[in-house]
Amino acid sequence: MTTNYSAFLYLISAVCFIFSLRGLSSPKTAIKGNLSGIAGMIIAVAATLSLPAVSSFGFIVAAVIAGGVIGLIIARRIAMTALPQLVAAFHSLVGLAAVLVAWASFSSPAAYGIGTSGHIALSSLIEMSLGVAVGAVTFSGSIIAFAKLQGILSGKPLRFRGQTLLNALIAAVIIVYIIHFAKTESTLSFLFLTLLSFILGFMLILPVGGADMPVVISMLNSYSGWAAAGIGFTLRNSLLVITGALVGSSGAILSYIMCKAMNRSIFNVLLGGIGQSGTNGSADETAKTANIGSAEDAAVLLENAQKVIIVPGYGMAVAQSQFALEEMAEMLKKKGIAIKYAIHPVAGRMPGHMNVLLAEAKIPYEDVFELDDINGEFADTDVVYIIGANDVTNPLAKTDSSSPIYGMPVLDVEKARNIIVVKRSLAGKGYAGVDNPVFYAPNTMMLLGDAKKVTEEINKFLK
Ligand code: NDP
Repeated sequence: MTTNYSAFLYLISAVCFIFSLRGLSSPKTAIKGNLSGIAGMIIAVAATLSLPAVSSFGFIVAAVIAGGVIGLIIARRIAMTALPQLVAAFHSLVGLAAVLVAWASFSSPAAYGIGTSGHIALSSLIEMSLGVAVGAVTFSGSIIAFAKLQGILSGKPLRFRGQTLLNALIAAVIIVYIIHFAKTESTLSFLFLTLLSFILGFMLILPVGGADMPVVISMLNSYSGWAAAGIGFTLRNSLLVITGALVGSSGAILSYIMCKAMNRSIFNVLLGGIGQSGTNGSADETAKTANIGSAEDAAVLLENAQKVIIVPGYGMAVAQSQFALEEMAEMLKKKGIAIKYAIHPVAGRMPGHMNVLLAEAKIPYEDVFELDDINGEFADTDVVYIIGANDVTNPLAKTDSSSPIYGMPVLDVEKARNIIVVKRSLAGKGYAGVDNPVFYAPNTMMLLGDAKKVTEEINKFLK
């Protein structure tokens, strides 16, 4: 039960969370946003611990210490490039928590103040069945997303005929069980609805192809928020409802933005039908010779340009080459060359990945442009420097309808006068596993090697 005092503190922390989201919307204000979120969480935990319903602290303190230590160890060890799978793993825990809380309240309704066994309030039955369904879908979907991002499961879409229909059918049966459960309070219905929701989570994420994973991550983010809101209803905790709704709705907005970026339909996403099973869409076999260049060649090309656009991708994150890149860009700027950065919305492995890395290297925000704002400029650019990017520059997305990335808007790098591509090998493919014809274009120079080492080499020549 919330007291006036804790309700007031909850209100303050809800406002902190809203400010946090606002701050996180731009790299410039992201630190303030994070601090506001931390403050909100501290107030929320303190207010919850001061509730009269909290009578013993032993388990809570032990769980906070255990969770804190595990979180600290993971945060210190995790590589920046492994963050997406970590986020997926954390989403699965939120989903599991929602399922467990719903089952606990169903087993001991009196302890949750929602009635007695056999006489649980109708609103609580609806809340707990929705909470269990969303939680179970989030849990199993996140497990599959984790396995795909970690490389335990193939990133290729696992599809079969009638899959979308089957998913829709399972969703319909879940709704029937929810109605039956709310009417009868039947344990069996609750059990079936939980199991079917777990299955639906697997089914929704399995058919998603590699390049579509950004949509999945943001979608699961949204589901985990709604699952948390469900827990909030069951626990009668208004702050958890607000926080869950904030995460759920911001995740839904992000999913919409990602769908637009990938040119995918939101309905296909919801029914697990995104990603095409097509071929690996290969580059033109007749033109498969690449021009391999050296760091010195690249330095000469860059020095003689008037305008350079830099396209960072996942490989920049792997190599942690953003600092060497910033040094290179500054040297070129001093020589009077115009420098811009082109960021694709799904470059890297999480939304905003490239923006975070460029901000870390103190690259000016005004030099960084989104796809829509810069795509018209490639035709009028002397050199494009592609550093560890692949899928986001692949023109097959525009032309090969059998390709799994077909339809995804890409950066029009092939229109530039000269292209420099930095990657470790010619064979190495992007996340979607698709060949990129840009690597074999006559105006492309391939610089094979680690992005950091190669860029540092170029810097030596520029100096
Ligand atoms: P890609 O994964 O398409 O390509 C990365 C490239 O980097 C590879 O060609 C690889 O080639 C190269 N590379 C890897 N390590 C290094 C290194 N140390 N030095 C130099 N090059 C390196 O990345 P993009 O950013 O172009 O595209 C992102 C992809 O990830 C998209 O398909 C997107 O849908 C997907 N994705 C995005 C998420 C998001 O939220 N942003 C989430 C999940 C997936 P080589 O091995 O030869 O070096």
